[in-house]
Amino acid sequence: MSEQKDILVLPGDGIGTEVVPVACRVLEYAASRCGVNVRLQEGLVGGNAIDAAGTPLPPDTLQMAQSSRAVLLGAVGGPKWDDLPTLERPERGLLGLRAGLSLFANLRPALLFAPLAQASSLKQELVSDLDILIVRELTGGIYFGEPRGIEVVDNERRGVNTYVYSEHEIERIARVAFELAELRQGRLCSVDKANVLEVTQLWREVVSQLAAEYPSVELSHMYVDNAGMQLVRAPKQFDVLVTGNMFGDILSDVAAMLTGSLGMLPSASLASDGTGMYEPVHGSAPDIAGQDKANPLATILSVAMMFRYSLDSPDAADAIEGAVNAVLAEGFRTMDIMPADSQGTSSLVGTQEMGDLVLGKLEASL
Ligand code: NAD
Repeated sequence: MSEQKDILVLPGDGIGTEVVPVACRVLEYAASRCGVNVRLQEGLVGGNAIDAAGTPLPPDTLQMAQSSRAVLLGAVGGPKWDDLPTLERPERGLLGLRAGLSLFANLRPALLFAPLAQASSLKQELVSDLDILIVRELTGGIYFGEPRGIEVVDNERRGVNTYVYSEHEIERIARVAFELAELRQGRLCSVDKANVLEVTQLWREVVSQLAAEYPSVELSHMYVDNAGMQLVRAPKQFDVLVTGNMFGDILSDVAAMLTGSLGMLPSASLASDGTGMYEPVHGSAPDIAGQDKANPLATILSVAMMFRYSLDSPDAADAIEGAVNAVLAEGFRTMDIMPADSQGTSSLVGTQEMGDLVLGKLEASL
């Protein structure tokens, strides 16, 4: 058996407590079949941590996260904690984990399983089998640059933020993107605004200099306004996109909508040593929490990413994604991806049953 890898499981709040246990069953089964030796431990984060320990990120949660290979997180937040001051809210738990684990690379795939192509707002042929990956720098850029704030100058208020990147920050995220492109279709598009912003002229220069080290990757550059347009015009032209914090924030949400449903979107945030935090893009969905209605597939697909990027087991990742595709192809749908007019071709299932169906397919393939 291989070396033991610790996984910290943080269900969080709302539907996090429903989808994470389902995804853990998939995780444990795939690990056992693929020879990956995992040990799962559970911790508190978000609203339930505030209730139990008075803080959204208790010190022992952070410490367990720092000694784990990967973290699987559900979602945090809910109306119960909405009136707390900003610095005490459940979301601070997420920010604390990102900072405490030095997670600088955010990976957001936009993967459209063919059986769901009609759920997209774009024409089916533009998005069917879409598979793009947006790599977003997560700890720098204009969201963190100094000086920042609102000040009074000449009797009026003035707001200031600073868009700043150092060479080492650009190089670090670009290397992640080049390496991912090598594992995929070998095409990397770097997105900037180099015609206007000096900081992104430096970005373009640093990314271009690295290209020689990755001869199998075809590098291109695109201005962010054009990238936004191309994503909704012809998204399948892209393989991997790499960009800074703010552009990545916006473009990854645009790309997400191409796939039609929040309940299908996984994400990963990585540190330089391969430690990662894996979570669905959606929130705690208080409107459906506790009703067995939540779609667990975003969290299950986050587990697939964990196998690929932190557990060095691409076979397990492929098998999980294949199982999800097979279940969808047979017409099983949770409420959020159920077509309005399915005419008997789709069957509505709950959170637990969707998990059972994916496990069933996995058992047949692994
Ligand atoms: P949300 O993502 O929780 O829900 C938006 C809508 O999508 C809701 O109608 C919900 O029912 C639906 N939905 C979301 N995930 C689904 C799933 N897996 N299956 C089926 N339907 C799903 O966003 P929101 O309502 O704006 O926020 C609710 C709470 O979640 C807030 O407290 C917010 O701060 C928090 N939040 C947390 C995260 C996170 O933990 N990463 C992200 C976003 C929002």
